[in-house]
Amino acid sequence: MTCYPRLPDPAGMAVNRIAWRGLPSVFIVRGDLIHPVVSGNKWFKLKPLLEQCQSDGIKTLVSVGGAYSNHLHALAFAGERMGFNTVGLVRGPEPERWSPTLVDCHNWGMDIRFLSRVDYNQRHAEAFARHWCARFAHSSFVPEGGWSELAINGSGAWWNVAGYDLDAIVCPVGSGTTLAGLARAAPSGTRVIGVPVYRDPNGYAQLRDKLSQQGIGPDDYRLWSGWAGRGFGRLTASERRFIDDFEIGQGIQLDPVYTVKTFRAVADCWLTEADFRDMKVGVLHTGGLQGRRPLNAGV
Ligand SMILES: *Cc1c(COP(=O)(O)O)cnc(C)c1O
Repeated sequence: MTCYPRLPDPAGMAVNRIAWRGLPSVFIVRGDLIHPVVSGNKWFKLKPLLEQCQSDGIKTLVSVGGAYSNHLHALAFAGERMGFNTVGLVRGPEPERWSPTLVDCHNWGMDIRFLSRVDYNQRHAEAFARHWCARFAHSSFVPEGGWSELAINGSGAWWNVAGYDLDAIVCPVGSGTTLAGLARAAPSGTRVIGVPVYRDPNGYAQLRDKLSQQGIGPDDYRLWSGWAGRGFGRLTASERRFIDDFEIGQGIQLDPVYTVKTFRAVADCWLTEADFRDMKVGVLHTGGLQGRRPLNAGV
């Protein structure tokens, strides 16, 4: 039985960043160090949601994700720590061998159910959440990525870790919750830049819409949209090499889904954009290192 430290309080966090060797004025914001399991942004998003559920008398948290989901992994751990039952609805079919992520989730008490592709594709529908919550007494549905007012505001805690003296900050974009939280709480004059890690043939119109519905307009952030590579969760050979080179050069591991694409974007822009080199830049290491395990297994 591994003994893990307590879940930290984001409000009390100190600045934690180090210089990127070879890129003067770029700082790596060490969200990967906030907790060995619930690293970076997942805890900032989950904490306010789970506290709200506690005060609402919720007993069971139901959520969705893939077999390597950082979100389900963090939810299973935090749920167990905070006294919730958790149910993970996983994109099926059930594999012959469960991923290390799902094995961890199971060990933290998560009830894992594999859904067919067709059922899983309904996961953003309101009826889906209702259907599953009806099966468990006093349950609540936690949307993938956490997109909600509470989670966005929780993500503002990143500024404590990044520091308030930056000219620009760069983060990965999955659901966009982290980007929204950064933009909403940004010190005036600090540019907020998001790097989408999934492809969108419609120029991220849906993401921009979602953000503007939360009062975050086109002037509040920028998107660097050329670094999604082959798409969400797909690693190219050159991204793979970037992970290895970065670890050798900086002594820091990157995850294969989010941080590799984000850090690569920063490295590329630093070479090509002269004004970027004059700025004091923070780049968020959002964690997610549990997702590296398939890399080592050669999957
Ligand atoms: C989930 C996750 C993200 C994406 O954050 P959003 O708020 O959904 O955009 C980024 N990095 C890591 C490591 C993650 O696990």
